[in-house]
Amino acid sequence: MSSNTTILITGANRGIGRAITKLYLSRPNTTLIAGVRDPTNTTTTASLSTLPLGQGSKLVIVKIESSSETDAKTAISTLPQHGITHLDLVIANAGIGHYWAKARDVDIEELKQHYLINSIAPLVLFQAALPLLKASKSPKFVTISSALGSIAAMENIPLPSAVYGSSKAALNFTTRKIHQEEGDWGLVAFSVHPGWLKTELGNAGAAAAGLQEAPETLEVVIPQLVSLFDTATREKSSGHFLTYNGTDFQW
Ligand code: NDP
Repeated sequence: MSSNTTILITGANRGIGRAITKLYLSRPNTTLIAGVRDPTNTTTTASLSTLPLGQGSKLVIVKIESSSETDAKTAISTLPQHGITHLDLVIANAGIGHYWAKARDVDIEELKQHYLINSIAPLVLFQAALPLLKASKSPKFVTISSALGSIAAMENIPLPSAVYGSSKAALNFTTRKIHQEEGDWGLVAFSVHPGWLKTELGNAGAAAAGLQEAPETLEVVIPQLVSLFDTATREKSSGHFLTYNGTDFQW
């Protein structure tokens, strides 16, 4: 990516989001806008504001509660005050995955909540970010999806994932639709399976599968994930569902 790269990511305070934030901030000339649920929470801000900064890099923390239809737009409207007039990369990362049940037993309120946070909020974010993405010379919109959102891979993943899986399948559809509809100005849009990672969410999935913890580590995966973001192009990557190492994942 070019110098003065500007990136916005949601769910930046822990797990995958924080690890991505940390890596980008360690680079020079990078502005990282960290979307968090509650910027007044001192644990949240301390976990981000103590991250080492590369030369010329800066962190801006904004409030984006995923269930809000207005937070993303409000947050992005404040960016010009920080001298930010374009977004090169927007990462819809915030997500939930704490509920596991067979379809016949699914609690509909849990289903609605997962759809709101995992499927609807990324589209709300995209709509809010659109004007500043259009102002970028090399705009990218990435959604953090999951292997559990794959219909083709379902037979190999016998987890009670009716809620989480279907929310990510919807996210995959929307992401590919955005790719299809926004090609005329060169947007790169794709979804990513980030691996099965040792985070709160990843370990909750592991418990549902009868495992002690998730198998993969942030230390191994995040550099590959960020390299995938760096090298993504309209021709090679847009409209794909990719694994963190750059290989295509089955829809
Ligand atoms: P974590 O549980 O570690 O972190 C989730 C992040 O999302 C937190 O920053 C959390 O903020 C934020 N978040 C949750 N709900 C909301 C909300 N309503 N509004 C704003 N932010 C919210 O999970 P991961 O880091 O593992 O997951 C990140 C993404 O990766 C998710 O989309 C997940 O589905 C996906 N993923 C993860 C896998 C894994 O193995 N870990 C596998 C496949 C996909 P807060 O601290 O305020 O709760």
